[in-house]
Amino acid sequence: MSAYTVHQGQLPGLFRLWAKLYKVHVPVQTAPGFYDFAPWEPDTEIAWDYDLTVNPLKRHLLPPREDLVVFDTRTYEARGVFQAPQQLLFGVHPYDLRAIAQLDQLMELGSPDRNYRRRRENTVIFALDPLRVAPDAFWSTLGAGRADIGFDLYWTKIGPAMFFVEVGTARGEELLLAAGEVERAGAAQHEAARRTREDTRRRADGHGLKFPWQELPRVMAKAWDAGIWREKSSMCLACGSCNLVCPTCYCFDMREELDESLGKGRRWRQWDACMLPAFAQVAGGHNFRGKHLDRYRHRYFRKGKYIFDLIGEPGCVGCGRCIKACTARIANPLAVFNRLWEEYA
Ligand code: SF4
Ligand code: SF4
Repeated sequence: MSAYTVHQGQLPGLFRLWAKLYKVHVPVQTAPGFYDFAPWEPDTEIAWDYDLTVNPLKRHLLPPREDLVVFDTRTYEARGVFQAPQQLLFGVHPYDLRAIAQLDQLMELGSPDRNYRRRRENTVIFALDPLRVAPDAFWSTLGAGRADIGFDLYWTKIGPAMFFVEVGTARGEELLLAAGEVERAGAAQHEAARRTREDTRRRADGHGLKFPWQELPRVMAKAWDAGIWREKSSMCLACGSCNLVCPTCYCFDMREELDESLGKGRRWRQWDACMLPAFAQVAGGHNFRGKHLDRYRHRYFRKGKYIFDLIGEPGCVGCGRCIKACTARIANPLAVFNRLWEEYA
């Protein structure tokens, strides 16, 4: 894999060039201690050392709300509507890369999601190795601390004004070299990048699962009647925040509406959340997960077993967003999985 060294002074030229071709999103600080991805502008201050963004990147691939079809009830004509902007996501941490890689697989299962696929094809991803680890993160023990695929370029900050940039795809390399001369990385830069990443992993390793993640489905299979479901779910506010901030949750709901003439209408989809009371409500008013306990348990089975059974890894990358977002302080996959391990291993 080829690698280059990029100096801070080269970045404005590169960003200006990329912004002509793509809608570029970068990590920024939105309030002290809070970060998010935002559109890049020439005066944007990139938060190189962000630990975690409040929102995951799934909204750029699976928007919170999206029109699918417009139709005419008089002519019986329907037309698909779709927008897939050319976009470049800069500064994506490895655990979020892993989450996107999961969505890539899950959206192809069954009936492939063509909207997702087309958005994904139009998305360039420049990864960034984390310089700081969020207090609630446990990605390291889920094997999501390093990505070998799923990026066009992988950036590692190896000095106050210097980056080591590994090439993941020909498209990434072309975009890196498009603004002019960029030096090839030498042995010293390779070594500096290796040390920087090792330092981060060392800090991340201190907090996480007390057992190998490969054991999760086996433990979950024994834990259907665990006491933790009742104990924790009794405090759940059913707000759905843990779903909305999760980079691997992708459920959506479909709706249709007619205009006031009843002649034209549209079908759209919007994010849904399995922690909301109406998520599992069906025709006739029956709700097959009507209790807090059922919804709370389902979320962990989804993360620890059902997704695992489909793609061979947990449906949780250990970002810690849900832990931070939960007002009741009960949406904590790490605490739940570790306790189930103690009780059911
Ligand atoms: S379940 Fe929580 S920790 Fe796991 S990926 Fe989702 S938001 Fe992150
Ligand atoms: S964020 Fe917490 S309170 Fe809200 S639905 Fe999730 S577990 Fe319940």
